[in-house]
Amino acid sequence: MYDFAKNVVGDAGDVELLIPAGTEPHDYEPSAKDIAKITDADVFVYNSGELETWVKDVLENVDKNKVTVVEAAGSIDLVAGAEHDDEEEDGHDHDHELDPHVWLDPVLAQKEVEAIRDALVKKYPEQKEVFEKNSAAYLEKLVDLDTDYKEAFANAKNKTFVTQHAAFGYLAKQYGLTQESIAGISPDQEPSPSRLAELKKYIEENNVPVIYFETSASSKVAKTLAKETGVELAVLNPLESLTKKEQEAGENYISVMKENLEALKKSIK
Ligand SMILES: [Zn+2]
Repeated sequence: MYDFAKNVVGDAGDVELLIPAGTEPHDYEPSAKDIAKITDADVFVYNSGELETWVKDVLENVDKNKVTVVEAAGSIDLVAGAEHDDEEEDGHDHDHELDPHVWLDPVLAQKEVEAIRDALVKKYPEQKEVFEKNSAAYLEKLVDLDTDYKEAFANAKNKTFVTQHAAFGYLAKQYGLTQESIAGISPDQEPSPSRLAELKKYIEENNVPVIYFETSASSKVAKTLAKETGVELAVLNPLESLTKKEQEAGENYISVMKENLEALKKSIK
């Protein structure tokens, strides 16, 4: 959301990242200082109440006449998360949770950018041209990204990939791929022993060449599974957070999505 908002705003305002670099947003809770930042802001952008579950409570104390609140995924129909049982240790079944990871689909990402643009134009009509020009340039890059993905996977024979965190469901759907996940839509949802056995069998029977994991979350299970099955590990970044190092290196949504595409080509070919 930070990167999308920054690209729409350009030099017309200051965009600040609320969730600290390298922090897993599924686990994030705002501090009193963070809440004050939201209260003091002119505009507050978040992805979806299904990911930033704390937003609902925070907004009760925010003056919406002052702070314009943008739920970027608000107009997108969310689908249910991973279909298999993701029983957490507390015994809760997360089968019915909606999947918030829309930004990982370059087409839905465009919808989020448009939602941010429209909210800013509405609030600052005198800056309409600036926001429209900025977002048009960025949307063009997202269209190119979509074309790259489409072309890469159009003639692939294997269309299934195995990933640790079920963050790539919308991306998979957009390009006719199938995501098999080890954990659920929240990366700390540990798989049950029967799900692990099932995955191991799946990997062996289908000659799955790569298991994807993400660097920021716990990836122990993915690594164990790769070791047990003798399969290569590769990174798929769910872009929920970039580390400070990645930010300083100039990484952004588009550069990481291009890295994800290269990584996916290792199994979808
Ligand atoms: Zn996630």
